Amino acid sequence: MATTIIIARSSSDKPERASLEQELAELCVARGLDVLLVPDLYHIAENSEIWEELARLRDRALVFSWMYPRPAECVLRRHRIGDNGLQTFDLASYEAAQEALEAPHLSLAASDGSQTPGGALKELQEPISPRWYPVVDRSRCTDCQHCLQFCIFGVYELDDAGRVVATNPDNCKPGCPACARVCPNSAIMFPLFTDDDAICGAPGKLVTLDAPARRMYYVRTGKRCPECGQEGEATPAGSQGGKVCPECGRQLPGRLEAPDEPRESNALDEIDALIDELDDIAGGGQ
Ligand code: SF4
Ligand code: SF4
Repeated sequence: MATTIIIARSSSDKPERASLEQELAELCVARGLDVLLVPDLYHIAENSEIWEELARLRDRALVFSWMYPRPAECVLRRHRIGDNGLQTFDLASYEAAQEALEAPHLSLAASDGSQTPGGALKELQEPISPRWYPVVDRSRCTDCQHCLQFCIFGVYELDDAGRVVATNPDNCKPGCPACARVCPNSAIMFPLFTDDDAICGAPGKLVTLDAPARRMYYVRTGKRCPECGQEGEATPAGSQGGKVCPECGRQLPGRLEAPDEPRESNALDEIDALIDELDDIAGGGQ
Protein backbone atom coordinates (compact mmCIF):
# COMPACT_ATOMS: atom_id res chain seq x y z
CA MET A 1 0.00 0.00 0.00
CA ALA A 2 1.26 3.47 -0.85
CA THR A 3 2.10 5.93 1.88
CA THR A 4 1.26 9.60 2.18
CA ILE A 5 3.23 11.79 4.54
CA ILE A 6 1.02 14.37 6.23
CA ILE A 7 2.80 17.27 7.86
CA ALA A 8 0.63 19.45 10.08
CA ARG A 9 1.98 22.94 10.33
CA SER A 10 2.41 24.63 13.68
CA SER A 11 0.06 27.52 14.37
CA SER A 12 2.79 29.20 16.40
CA ASP A 13 4.93 31.84 14.74
CA LYS A 14 8.20 30.11 15.59
CA PRO A 15 10.28 30.28 12.40
CA GLU A 16 12.30 27.17 13.32
CA ARG A 17 9.11 25.12 13.23
CA ALA A 18 8.17 26.36 9.76
CA SER A 19 11.71 25.58 8.55
CA LEU A 20 11.60 22.05 9.89
CA GLU A 21 8.19 21.40 8.31
CA GLN A 22 9.33 22.71 4.94
CA GLU A 23 12.64 20.88 5.01
CA LEU A 24 11.00 17.59 5.95
CA ALA A 25 8.44 18.01 3.17
CA GLU A 26 11.14 18.61 0.57
CA LEU A 27 13.28 15.72 1.76
CA CYS A 28 10.29 13.36 1.62
CA VAL A 29 9.39 14.46 -1.90
CA ALA A 30 12.99 13.99 -3.01
CA ARG A 31 12.78 10.47 -1.66
CA GLY A 32 9.71 9.73 -3.75
CA LEU A 33 7.08 10.16 -1.06
CA ASP A 34 3.82 12.03 -1.54
CA VAL A 35 3.45 14.82 0.99
CA LEU A 36 0.37 16.69 2.13
CA LEU A 37 0.82 19.85 4.18
CA VAL A 38 -2.15 20.78 6.36
CA PRO A 39 -2.82 23.42 9.04
CA ASP A 40 -2.33 22.74 12.75
CA LEU A 41 -4.36 19.58 13.36
CA TYR A 42 -5.75 20.65 16.72
CA HIS A 43 -7.08 23.93 15.38
CA ILE A 44 -8.69 22.79 12.13
CA ALA A 45 -12.37 23.71 12.47
CA GLU A 46 -14.83 20.96 13.31
CA ASN A 47 -16.70 21.31 10.01
CA SER A 48 -13.65 21.91 7.82
CA GLU A 49 -13.52 20.23 4.41
CA ILE A 50 -9.91 19.35 5.19
CA TRP A 51 -11.15 16.50 7.41
CA GLU A 52 -13.21 15.10 4.54
CA GLU A 53 -10.30 15.36 2.17
CA LEU A 54 -8.02 13.52 4.59
CA ALA A 55 -10.67 10.85 5.20
CA ARG A 56 -10.79 10.19 1.46
CA LEU A 57 -7.10 9.22 1.39
CA ARG A 58 -6.65 5.64 0.32
CA ASP A 59 -3.01 5.48 1.43
CA ARG A 60 -1.43 4.60 4.71
CA ALA A 61 -0.80 7.89 6.51
CA LEU A 62 2.30 8.84 8.44
CA VAL A 63 1.40 12.05 10.22
CA PHE A 64 3.84 14.55 11.70
CA SER A 65 2.42 17.23 13.95
CA TRP A 66 3.42 19.34 16.92
CA MET A 67 1.43 17.22 19.35
CA TYR A 68 2.27 14.06 21.21
CA PRO A 69 1.45 11.02 19.05
CA ARG A 70 -1.56 9.82 21.10
CA PRO A 71 -3.65 13.03 21.00
CA ALA A 72 -2.71 13.52 17.34
CA GLU A 73 -3.99 10.04 16.49
CA CYS A 74 -7.18 10.60 18.52
CA VAL A 75 -7.89 13.91 16.76
CA LEU A 76 -7.53 12.15 13.41
CA ARG A 77 -9.56 9.07 14.38
CA ARG A 78 -12.37 11.32 15.61
CA HIS A 79 -12.66 12.51 12.03
CA ARG A 80 -12.53 8.93 10.66
CA ILE A 81 -9.02 9.33 9.30
CA GLY A 82 -6.54 6.47 9.27
CA ASP A 83 -8.59 3.40 8.38
CA ASN A 84 -5.87 2.33 5.93
CA GLY A 85 -3.12 2.58 8.50
CA LEU A 86 -2.04 5.49 10.61
CA GLN A 87 1.06 6.39 12.56
CA THR A 88 1.59 9.70 14.25
CA PHE A 89 4.85 11.40 15.21
CA ASP A 90 5.72 14.43 17.28
CA LEU A 91 7.84 16.88 15.29
CA ALA A 92 9.08 18.36 18.54
CA SER A 93 11.01 15.15 19.17
CA TYR A 94 13.33 15.74 16.20
CA GLU A 95 16.28 18.08 16.20
CA ALA A 96 16.29 18.30 12.42
CA ALA A 97 14.25 17.17 9.42
CA GLN A 98 16.94 14.71 8.40
CA GLU A 99 16.51 12.94 11.73
CA ALA A 100 12.80 12.42 11.09
CA LEU A 101 13.54 11.23 7.57
CA GLU A 102 16.01 8.65 8.78
CA ALA A 103 13.55 7.17 11.25
CA PRO A 104 12.73 3.55 10.35
CA HIS A 105 9.10 4.18 9.43
CA LEU A 106 10.06 6.63 6.67
CA SER A 107 12.82 4.42 5.34
CA LEU A 108 10.26 1.64 5.00
CA ALA A 109 7.76 3.92 3.30
CA ALA A 110 10.32 4.98 0.72
CA SER A 111 11.54 1.50 -0.04
CA ASP A 112 8.30 -0.45 -0.34
CA GLY A 113 8.35 -0.01 -4.12
CA SER A 114 4.91 1.57 -4.29
CA GLN A 115 5.99 5.18 -4.51
CA THR A 116 6.52 7.10 -7.74
CA PRO A 117 10.10 8.21 -8.55
CA GLY A 118 9.37 11.76 -7.49
CA GLY A 119 6.85 12.42 -4.76
CA ALA A 120 4.12 15.03 -5.08
CA LEU A 121 3.74 17.96 -2.72
CA LYS A 122 0.30 19.38 -2.02
CA GLU A 123 -0.91 21.82 0.60
CA LEU A 124 -4.41 22.22 2.02
CA GLN A 125 -4.88 25.68 3.45
CA GLU A 126 -7.59 27.54 5.27
CA PRO A 127 -7.72 30.27 7.92
CA ILE A 128 -7.23 28.90 11.41
CA SER A 129 -8.75 30.21 14.64
CA PRO A 130 -7.39 28.99 17.96
CA ARG A 131 -9.46 26.22 19.57
CA TRP A 132 -9.53 24.58 23.01
CA TYR A 133 -11.33 21.29 23.54
CA PRO A 134 -10.90 17.85 25.06
CA VAL A 135 -9.45 15.05 22.95
CA VAL A 136 -10.90 11.70 24.01
CA ASP A 137 -8.89 8.53 23.60
CA ARG A 138 -11.57 6.02 22.61
CA SER A 139 -9.18 3.13 23.27
CA ARG A 140 -9.21 4.06 26.97
CA CYS A 141 -12.74 5.38 27.38
CA THR A 142 -15.20 3.04 29.08
CA ASP A 143 -18.19 5.38 28.58
CA CYS A 144 -18.55 5.72 32.33
CA GLN A 145 -20.08 9.20 31.75
CA HIS A 146 -18.16 10.88 34.56
CA CYS A 147 -16.98 13.62 32.20
CA LEU A 148 -20.47 14.08 30.80
CA GLN A 149 -21.97 14.46 34.28
CA PHE A 150 -19.17 16.72 35.41
CA CYS A 151 -19.06 19.24 32.55
CA ILE A 152 -21.67 21.96 32.94
CA PHE A 153 -21.08 23.38 29.47
CA GLY A 154 -22.65 20.60 27.41
CA VAL A 155 -19.44 19.55 25.70
CA TYR A 156 -20.22 15.84 26.02
CA GLU A 157 -23.29 13.88 24.95
CA LEU A 158 -24.21 10.26 24.42
CA ASP A 159 -24.46 9.02 20.86
CA ASP A 160 -27.10 6.52 19.70
CA ALA A 161 -24.90 3.63 20.80
CA GLY A 162 -24.51 5.03 24.32
CA ARG A 163 -20.94 6.17 23.77
CA VAL A 164 -19.70 9.40 25.29
CA VAL A 165 -18.77 11.83 22.55
CA ALA A 166 -17.53 15.43 22.70
CA THR A 167 -20.29 16.62 20.37
CA ASN A 168 -19.89 20.30 21.21
CA PRO A 169 -16.13 20.62 21.64
CA ASP A 170 -16.08 24.36 21.12
CA ASN A 171 -18.32 24.85 24.18
CA CYS A 172 -15.24 24.00 26.24
CA LYS A 173 -13.82 26.90 28.23
CA PRO A 174 -10.33 27.92 27.10
CA GLY A 175 -7.76 26.98 29.70
CA CYS A 176 -10.06 24.58 31.56
CA PRO A 177 -8.70 21.02 31.67
CA ALA A 178 -10.95 19.98 34.59
CA CYS A 179 -12.62 16.90 33.15
CA ALA A 180 -9.22 15.41 32.31
CA ARG A 181 -8.67 15.16 36.07
CA VAL A 182 -12.05 13.53 36.61
CA CYS A 183 -11.72 10.77 34.03
CA PRO A 184 -10.76 7.57 35.86
CA ASN A 185 -9.03 6.16 32.77
CA SER A 186 -6.78 9.04 31.70
CA ALA A 187 -8.75 9.09 28.46
CA ILE A 188 -9.11 12.87 28.17
CA MET A 189 -6.29 15.03 26.87
CA PHE A 190 -5.78 18.72 26.28
CA PRO A 191 -2.76 18.86 23.95
CA LEU A 192 -2.12 22.54 24.67
CA PHE A 193 -2.11 22.20 28.47
CA THR A 194 1.64 22.33 28.85
CA ASP A 195 1.50 22.62 32.67
CA ASP A 196 0.87 18.89 32.89
CA ASP A 197 2.50 16.41 30.52
CA ALA A 198 -0.04 13.71 31.33
CA ILE A 199 -2.96 15.95 30.39
CA CYS A 200 -1.04 16.88 27.22
CA GLY A 201 -1.03 13.18 26.31
CA ALA A 202 2.67 12.45 26.84
CA PRO A 203 3.57 8.77 26.36
CA GLY A 204 3.46 6.64 29.49
CA LYS A 205 1.92 9.29 31.76
CA LEU A 206 -1.32 8.97 33.69
CA VAL A 207 -3.30 11.97 34.87
CA THR A 208 -3.40 12.58 38.61
CA LEU A 209 -7.05 12.59 39.61
CA ASP A 210 -8.49 15.65 41.30
CA ALA A 211 -10.21 14.37 44.46
CA PRO A 212 -12.63 17.32 44.94
CA ALA A 213 -13.64 17.12 41.29
CA ARG A 214 -14.22 13.38 41.60
CA ARG A 215 -16.37 13.95 44.70
CA MET A 216 -18.39 16.61 42.95
CA TYR A 217 -19.38 13.99 40.40
CA TYR A 218 -20.99 11.88 43.17
CA VAL A 219 -22.59 14.91 44.83
CA ARG A 220 -24.20 15.82 41.52
CA THR A 221 -25.29 12.39 40.40
CA GLY A 222 -25.75 10.35 43.58
CA LYS A 223 -24.16 7.47 41.66
CA ARG A 224 -22.90 4.36 43.40
CA CYS A 225 -19.30 4.62 44.49
CA PRO A 226 -17.14 1.69 43.36
CA GLU A 227 -14.89 2.11 46.42
CA CYS A 228 -17.36 2.19 49.35
CA GLY A 229 -20.49 0.90 47.61
CA GLN A 230 -22.70 3.77 48.81
CA GLU A 231 -25.11 5.54 46.53
CA GLY A 232 -27.69 8.29 46.69
CA GLU A 233 -27.30 11.73 48.12
CA ALA A 234 -23.81 12.37 49.37
CA THR A 235 -23.65 13.03 53.10
CA PRO A 236 -21.85 16.14 54.29
CA ALA A 237 -18.46 14.59 53.96
CA GLY A 238 -16.37 15.07 57.06
CA SER A 239 -18.88 17.40 58.68
CA GLN A 240 -19.77 14.80 61.29
CA GLY A 241 -16.20 13.77 61.94
CA GLY A 242 -14.78 10.36 61.22
CA LYS A 243 -13.64 8.83 58.01
CA VAL A 244 -14.93 9.64 54.58
CA CYS A 245 -14.57 7.64 51.42
CA PRO A 246 -11.57 9.00 49.50
CA GLU A 247 -13.33 8.39 46.19
CA CYS A 248 -16.85 9.82 46.68
CA GLY A 249 -16.42 11.81 49.91
CA ARG A 250 -19.41 10.14 51.57
CA GLN A 251 -19.29 9.47 55.28
CA LEU A 252 -18.13 5.91 55.86
CA PRO A 253 -20.60 3.80 57.91
CA GLY A 254 -19.71 2.88 61.46
CA ARG A 255 -17.99 6.13 62.27
CA LEU A 256 -21.00 8.38 62.70
CA GLU A 257 -20.91 7.86 66.43
CA ALA A 258 -17.64 9.68 66.74
CA PRO A 259 -18.71 13.31 66.34
CA ASP A 260 -15.80 14.70 68.30
CA GLU A 261 -13.16 13.29 66.00
CA PRO A 262 -11.42 15.98 64.01
CA ARG A 263 -12.64 16.35 60.48
CA GLU A 264 -10.65 14.10 58.24
CA SER A 265 -11.60 15.84 55.05
CA ASN A 266 -12.73 19.25 53.99
CA ALA A 267 -14.23 17.70 50.88
CA LEU A 268 -17.37 19.82 50.81
CA ASP A 269 -15.40 23.03 51.13
CA GLU A 270 -13.24 21.88 48.26
CA ILE A 271 -16.31 21.04 46.19
CA ASP A 272 -17.85 24.42 46.94
CA ALA A 273 -14.65 26.10 45.82
CA LEU A 274 -14.63 24.05 42.65
CA ILE A 275 -18.24 24.92 41.85
CA ASP A 276 -17.44 28.60 42.43
CA GLU A 277 -14.48 28.28 40.10
CA LEU A 278 -16.59 26.71 37.35
CA ASP A 279 -19.29 29.35 37.85
CA ASP A 280 -16.64 32.03 37.47
CA ILE A 281 -15.49 30.46 34.22
CA ALA A 282 -19.09 30.25 32.99
CA GLY A 283 -19.82 33.84 34.06
CA GLY A 284 -16.64 35.12 32.43
CA GLY A 285 -17.71 33.84 29.05
CA GLN A 286 -15.28 33.16 26.22
S1 SF4 B 1 -14.74 10.06 32.12
FE1 SF4 B 1 -13.22 9.18 30.74
S2 SF4 B 1 -13.72 7.00 30.59
FE2 SF4 B 1 -15.52 8.05 31.44
S3 SF4 B 1 -16.76 8.54 29.66
FE3 SF4 B 1 -15.49 10.33 30.02
S4 SF4 B 1 -13.68 10.00 28.74
FE4 SF4 B 1 -14.73 8.04 28.88
S1 SF4 C 1 -12.51 21.17 30.40
FE1 SF4 C 1 -14.20 22.01 31.57
S2 SF4 C 1 -15.53 23.01 30.05
FE2 SF4 C 1 -14.10 21.71 28.92
S3 SF4 C 1 -15.17 19.81 28.57
FE3 SF4 C 1 -14.00 19.56 30.47
S4 SF4 C 1 -15.32 20.18 32.15
FE4 SF4 C 1 -16.26 20.90 30.23
